[in-house]
Amino acid sequence: METFENLGLAPILLQNLAGLGLVKPTPIQEQGIPHIVRGRDLLGIAQTGTGKTAAFGLPMLTRIIAYGKRPAPKTVRALVLAPTRELATQIHDNLSAFAAGAPVRIQRVVGGASINVQSEKLAKGTDVLIATPGRLLDLLERRALVLSETKYLVLDEADQMLDIGFIHALRRIARLIPEDRQTMLFSATMPKLMEELAQSYLQDPVRVEVAPPGKAAEKIEQGVHFTTQGEKAALLAEYVAKHPGELAVVFNRTKHGSDKLATLMDKWGFSVAAIHGNKSQNARERALSAFRAGEVKLLIATDVAARGLDIPEVAHVYNYDLPNVPENYVHRIGRTARAGRNGRAVAFCGPMEMDELRAIEKAMGARIPVIGGEPHIAVAAPTPTRPGGNKKPHRGRGPKPAQGGAPKANPARANPAKASAGGAARPRRRTQGSKGGAAA
Ligand code: AMP
Repeated sequence: METFENLGLAPILLQNLAGLGLVKPTPIQEQGIPHIVRGRDLLGIAQTGTGKTAAFGLPMLTRIIAYGKRPAPKTVRALVLAPTRELATQIHDNLSAFAAGAPVRIQRVVGGASINVQSEKLAKGTDVLIATPGRLLDLLERRALVLSETKYLVLDEADQMLDIGFIHALRRIARLIPEDRQTMLFSATMPKLMEELAQSYLQDPVRVEVAPPGKAAEKIEQGVHFTTQGEKAALLAEYVAKHPGELAVVFNRTKHGSDKLATLMDKWGFSVAAIHGNKSQNARERALSAFRAGEVKLLIATDVAARGLDIPEVAHVYNYDLPNVPENYVHRIGRTARAGRNGRAVAFCGPMEMDELRAIEKAMGARIPVIGGEPHIAVAAPTPTRPGGNKKPHRGRGPKPAQGGAPKANPARANPAKASAGGAARPRRRTQGSKGGAAA
């Protein structure tokens, strides 16, 4: 069995890993660490949950510990850029646990917290700084730190930085770091723009790919449940009620939608919190720690807020809305089945989301099994007959609508669900359709 002992890591790190119960390197660690230890640039194609934080963190910390002296004031030895505050916090916490007891100063700077306090913290010099790009630029402008001594640059979840439009910030930051640095870039997916970005930042990198981009973790049991938009809340309540006490993350496309759903679920008696970009950093951290501690069972989140969320107890992911960026589906469901556990991911697909579903399945190269409802037939607006008599092609993956008539929506969905027993505080239950009930 490959162990951490053979990977050339500092003894104190090995000791801490053992204390954390991490004994066997994951594939990204096994394949990546030997190259990183030798100083090579690395392009890691890996999702969160694969152990990539340790893959870049352990060899980097090993080198930093070997310096044997404190960093000079305002300097930063290693810079880790993350797209969101939550991911930055998680990396910070992971690296701090790996390096516990070692003379290494690990700090985090993210938006939403006092910039003055952060400036003061940076004054003494930092070994490993984990930052979101926007806040880092603000601090650089204030001359709270310098990157002229930085030897390591890590871009984590780099594809998400493309999504959020961080490229400009990344360019400005990277220009300030000496070229003789070691750079590691991790990305779950490798779109063309990401390849270009990787080429401009990495020098002769080793490429380590542990799961093909877009391929969902095998331990996640996935399903799609066809429903209507109006029935999604009651359906969610049904699923959640079947797994009392288990943690679930619910993804919603909008901040407003997340709040609305959280209010409704709360009214129905579920213990719920919502996190999204409009919440203050404090509110987000409070919600996350309550969820992590199991005090709140249901976390309703937008994509950005849940990026990097790593809570092993998350047993279920519900895609209340399907993401319009297909790769985000893989990120979302990756919030479950972590740390060797199993997980379930259910996607609620409304009549207007068939295109998104198809795009997700195409990106994953696999169909998501149907566990409830029936595929929608797209109710397309009447389109003029094209020259040559071609009709608009049939959309959706259900049966082809009968010629001559308007495509009929699934009859099981035509009647609104009836109110169930339990009074006003209970969700409405779906009543018809043998396949319509929650199957999980
Ligand atoms: P990531 O977000 O990819 O860094 O994955 C982090 C999760 O994987 C955390 O829950 C870690 O505790 C866990 N992890 C990292 N390395 C290992 C390992 N070698 N064995 C088991 N779990 C690990």
